[in-house]
Amino acid sequence: MNRRGRFAPTPSGLLHIGNAFTALAAWLQMRQCGGEFVLRIEDIDQARSRPSYAEQLQNDLLWLGIDWDEGPGIGGPYAPYAQSRREPLYMEAIERLQQAGRLYPCYCSRRELASIGSAPHGLASEGGVYPGRCRFLTAEERQVKAAGKTPALRFIMPQQEVTFRDMLSGTHTFSGDALGDFVVKRADGMFSYQLAVTVDDAAMGITDVLRGADLLDSTPRQLMLYEALALEAPAFAHVPLLVDEGGQRLSKRDRSLTLASLRGEGVAPQRLLGALACLAGWVDRPEPLTARELIPRFGPVRPPGAQAKMIVDGTIRSLLTAN
Ligand code: GLU
Repeated sequence: MNRRGRFAPTPSGLLHIGNAFTALAAWLQMRQCGGEFVLRIEDIDQARSRPSYAEQLQNDLLWLGIDWDEGPGIGGPYAPYAQSRREPLYMEAIERLQQAGRLYPCYCSRRELASIGSAPHGLASEGGVYPGRCRFLTAEERQVKAAGKTPALRFIMPQQEVTFRDMLSGTHTFSGDALGDFVVKRADGMFSYQLAVTVDDAAMGITDVLRGADLLDSTPRQLMLYEALALEAPAFAHVPLLVDEGGQRLSKRDRSLTLASLRGEGVAPQRLLGALACLAGWVDRPEPLTARELIPRFGPVRPPGAQAKMIVDGTIRSLLTAN
């Protein structure tokens, strides 16, 4: 079977060099093995997404030399490639999970969730661990809570250990109760990232998911969804997040390291690619290289201790100046 990878950005801001690194790694992985590369726009959260960002990110990727075999502008056998147009598939998955008894309604408000004392944000991609409060309501309690409210739907996370081998960073084990039951459909009707990404990766025949380490703890959740939906799970790989000298994630709001601003300053894409490849340890010196030239160099990220984070320091920033 042909391998298939993807880049699945949320068009909620301009791509920065951290997003570019993830896209590059996912693209190199597929180009190195002769697989297919899909671009999927994860615009399910309409309040956060803008069509203009979806358009801009495509231009940014092409500027870098990252192309796609299926996706916006090209189409393909698994169209549409924007999540906002794939809702019937998510609905169907919810129905299957419901019929299998894997979901329950949750009436907790945002404020209640905060007062339950969810774990701090950090790398937890769900923001906190839900202790299962609404799962064990009696029929009577449920009736009281339900009055006039539409519930969210939560997936019952199996109380078991989930182990997977990350193609780049080794074996990871998570315990189900440390992850908690997570939302698959919000009270406002929006399907969650966890559900949509799982349904789409399966429906699009994705064999290799490569993404940022911020989503590492989403993987065991998604693996349990694959199992509950009787879908075959892809192989997973996570690349480090790019952080600033203070250890903070690069944000889509920090404009200085967006591809749009680097482009505007006249920085050549080869320069950025060379800097990223050097940061990842794929090349020894940050010499300018094209995306194509990097195909044979792709592999695990090498600097020791860089599994979760790579620091964008002054040296990198100075490499990204036009002259
Ligand atoms: N849409 C997600 C994001 O932009 C990434 C999804 C994924 O790669 O699984 O953070």
